[in-house]
Amino acid sequence: MGRTDYLDKLNDRQKEAAMYTEGPLLILAGAGSGKTSTMTHRIAYLIREMDVSPYNILAVTFTNKAAKEMRERVQKLIGEGVNMWILTFHSACLRILRRHAEVLGYGRDFAVYDPTDQKTVVKNICKELNIDTKKFTPSYFLGLISHCKENRISPKEYNAIYGTDFKEQMIGQVYERYDRTLKGNNAMDFDDLLLKTVELFEKDEEILEQYQNRFRYIMVDEYQDTNMIQYTFVKLLADARDRDGNPRRNLCVVGDDDQCIYQWRGADIRNILEFEKDFPGAKTVKLEQNYRSTANILAAAHSVISHNRGRKAKKLWTDAEDGNKIVYYNADDEKDEAYFVAGEINRIKSRDEMDGAGDYRQFAILYRTNAQSRTFEEALSNRGIPYRVLGGLRYYDRKEIKDIMCYMRLVQNRADDLALVRIINEPKRGIGGKTIDKLRALAQVRGESLFDVLLDRDVVASFSSKVSENLRAFAELIETYGVEQENMKLSDLYDGLLVNSGYLKALEDQKTVEAESRIENLMEFKSVISGYEKEDPNMNLPEFMERIALLADVDNHDSEENAVTLMTLHSAKGLEFPYVFMPGMEDGLFPGWRAYDREDGLEEERRLCYVGITRAKKRLWMTSARTRTLYGRTDYTRESVFLHELDSRLIEGDGIYDRKEKKAEAVFRDGAAEKMPVKPFDQLKYAQAQTRKRAEAMAKAADMDFAPGDRIRHPKFGEGEVLECGNGIIRVRFADSIKKLALGYAAIEKL
Ligand code: ATP
Ligand code: MG
Repeated sequence: MGRTDYLDKLNDRQKEAAMYTEGPLLILAGAGSGKTSTMTHRIAYLIREMDVSPYNILAVTFTNKAAKEMRERVQKLIGEGVNMWILTFHSACLRILRRHAEVLGYGRDFAVYDPTDQKTVVKNICKELNIDTKKFTPSYFLGLISHCKENRISPKEYNAIYGTDFKEQMIGQVYERYDRTLKGNNAMDFDDLLLKTVELFEKDEEILEQYQNRFRYIMVDEYQDTNMIQYTFVKLLADARDRDGNPRRNLCVVGDDDQCIYQWRGADIRNILEFEKDFPGAKTVKLEQNYRSTANILAAAHSVISHNRGRKAKKLWTDAEDGNKIVYYNADDEKDEAYFVAGEINRIKSRDEMDGAGDYRQFAILYRTNAQSRTFEEALSNRGIPYRVLGGLRYYDRKEIKDIMCYMRLVQNRADDLALVRIINEPKRGIGGKTIDKLRALAQVRGESLFDVLLDRDVVASFSSKVSENLRAFAELIETYGVEQENMKLSDLYDGLLVNSGYLKALEDQKTVEAESRIENLMEFKSVISGYEKEDPNMNLPEFMERIALLADVDNHDSEENAVTLMTLHSAKGLEFPYVFMPGMEDGLFPGWRAYDREDGLEEERRLCYVGITRAKKRLWMTSARTRTLYGRTDYTRESVFLHELDSRLIEGDGIYDRKEKKAEAVFRDGAAEKMPVKPFDQLKYAQAQTRKRAEAMAKAADMDFAPGDRIRHPKFGEGEVLECGNGIIRVRFADSIKKLALGYAAIEKL
């Protein structure tokens, strides 16, 4: 074959799309139909056959990982290293702005502010405006600002539209100053990169033309997840004319409306659905053959997604064999679920069924929320199966988990300077590096621990009044928990620390997606504790810390090489694995809460389910747990509506429970999105409320009056009789011991 033999790997439709180089082109096709492959071949074709210079091509996608993969695939096809713009939206815009920032009044060497820088800016503004950052956190403002920028609402416009009540006025003011500050500092944030590029193009026709002429061929992967600004960016570049004044519009977008999973972050599915309207005369190519999955997996995916209403009808076919059925396992609880998965991985791997040498890399566990990873990490490491958590950290490596463990470490051992330094300003207490350096110097001279130094009133008083007040409060917190720990139930200690340190509140105030996920992880830690408390109600802090230390130390294998991948369903978009597990198929978990809180939420969750199923090449497992301890609370669960939607002929293993709530099910089956399904119990909200209630109940005891002779009940020691009281301390005789207790650290009841 000639030079185009690389195209022979494509089917006719794909080839047609790859060779259709002039005018707007939409490749709208289901998962695994070779959209991304077609796009990379198209780039190769342009360069090799059409003599298009790589200089004239722009290909954009969403993640660095996807961009890198695409670049490598193209490189392979054209057999040489070329410097081409195959980039994420953000990096493409950054490159453009570096050249023309002056037009917008920026210097070319403008800084790009990351979220930490952004926070610093907002914090300073709040100080200037006397805004209480405990009530309104920097993240709160930044979330709103980002939302404004995504929707191209300038500070001026914001103030004109909103700005009626006090809160909105305040937001408007912060936004305006934030905008001014960044500009004054010659800086842009991530949202600016896109926004300013669009502004640049709109402001300066010559520059726009320059890029229109340069990027004669534009391609966008995962187009279904573009938001308004990204759309505008693409549209501006593509609306070009050639020398004779004829529209060129060599734009090729690739996507699948069934895989739009970022609407909750501003992605607009209409961008892909209305492509043909936006670009009249567009050619649409539908790819219908799926090359990734077995027929059964594909049919399963289809049976689920067909319940969505707002979709373009399309169906994939495959000439792959049926393959195994989807295995459904209904576990007793989440531990059983994780052990089942670990067991299946070992079983499959030890069989000759696998390609090549049986590689752990062929397995992926795709869950809905990060907090689910913990039980799998435990089960896998107990079986000696290497794993890596992609696009995230291992559970015990996560910041919030490390922070709270440092609180516990410090309470247990006040000489733990390392733990102290990590949390003394976490949450923010205005205790900066200089203060810590001073304390450290003193500790060194005196040969004491940092905490010892903190207990010295004179030392603490030597700082500014605010700092010294915060230092004192911190020291008192640790000191009292240190003394009281042995009188406290572990779970009470945990809840108390979370609330009284202000850690939980600081996260709750942020109201961001990230903060929410941190809260999920912290609440999940209660499951760890409740597990140990069930085993041994009297487990004390040192014992607990020892057990945790062993769990947290899962560093015993090479995690990059040859490891099972754990990640969220969201981050799995575009990827593929031979063996895929989808755990947690339960209402309230998957579909998750967005299904109930937002119109169209269920449809977006269903698309996510479709993305998950279609990642699997050879085999797919779905699991659920009859009872799940999530966030420290054990509940009966309800099997996911998606399991019910799945064609039961494609499932083997456990049968899916025939629900009693037939009505609720009927609502789902009709895909009637306007009728919301029966909302399951919100465990996360419950866990947060419970933590707070516990801390309050403990604090309340400090205000109670006790007298000798009172009968009380203590959560850890049971019933007892008060012997003495005074100064916030009581002495109590319990069945087999006499204890001295500080009030306020256990929810003591009077009987
Ligand atoms: P997604 O929607 O998940 O992003 P996609 O449509 O981009 O999927 P690709 O990732 O391009 O699909 O391809 C899926 C799989 O099918 C890949 O393993 C790819 O190598 C293979 N494939 C694509 N086209 C063909 C073909 N014509 N013949 C054989 N295999 C193919
Ligand atoms: Mg793809």
